[in-house]
Amino acid sequence: MVHDDPVTAIFVEYQTNWRNCHKCQAMYFAGHSGNGACPAPYTEETGWGHYGGERPDSTFPKGTFDFYLPTKNVFTGGVENGWRACWACLALVYDGPDKKSCAANDGGVHDCHGDEAGVYNFVLLKV
Ligand SMILES: [Zn+2]
Ligand SMILES: [Zn+2]
Repeated sequence: MVHDDPVTAIFVEYQTNWRNCHKCQAMYFAGHSGNGACPAPYTEETGWGHYGGERPDSTFPKGTFDFYLPTKNVFTGGVENGWRACWACLALVYDGPDKKSCAANDGGVHDCHGDEAGVYNFVLLKV
């Protein structure tokens, strides 16, 4: 176990830049230039998109979390497969038959791109 780098010691494959939106409480991908569409209302401080606490120059203050989501099941305990990023609103959603309406997909449901090549299937630990 390498104590200085616990992330790579735990997860073989992962994607970083996931943030918790302070407005709608969804996990969203903050690795694009925009923050996606948030279902919560616009405010002067947060704008229209998801908001992870970032400053006006799009940097995040020390102490906010940068979540690493595993993309491969390397765990022996309980996990749930099938979590994906919505390409329209950038939220993390369960890619099952009951997807809900998306704030950015013209009244449609979240757009997760299923099993297409290059689409991450996030594997979340559960207890
Ligand atoms: Zn949001
Ligand atoms: Zn969506």
